[in-house]
Amino acid sequence: MKVTPIEGEWFRFHVLSQEGNGTYLVDLENYDLNGECDCPHFRCRLEPLLKERGRSDATRCKHINAAVNMWFDRVARMVVRCVEKQVCGNEDRKQQDQAADAS
Ligand SMILES: [Zn+2]
Repeated sequence: MKVTPIEGEWFRFHVLSQEGNGTYLVDLENYDLNGECDCPHFRCRLEPLLKERGRSDATRCKHINAAVNMWFDRVARMVVRCVEKQVCGNEDRKQQDQAADAS
């Protein structure tokens, strides 16, 4: 399934419908991070369920799930880079401290 992040946005994606007749807009931030999609399945079946009982495993359509996968990849990579930088930053500082102690 083709998922395209919307430029400059963190939570919104265009997802190509599997039937190939257009794209759906997915906004992962909505419904307390359940996500919202404008496909008929979500609008007619999942959205009423969400409003009635709150989010569950069953309240994400395949388009939301596809967008969640891409979101995870993007954000996880950023977190990995951030953690690596922090770890390296701390090592640098430790080495500097040791150098200062030695002198
Ligand atoms: Zn959908």
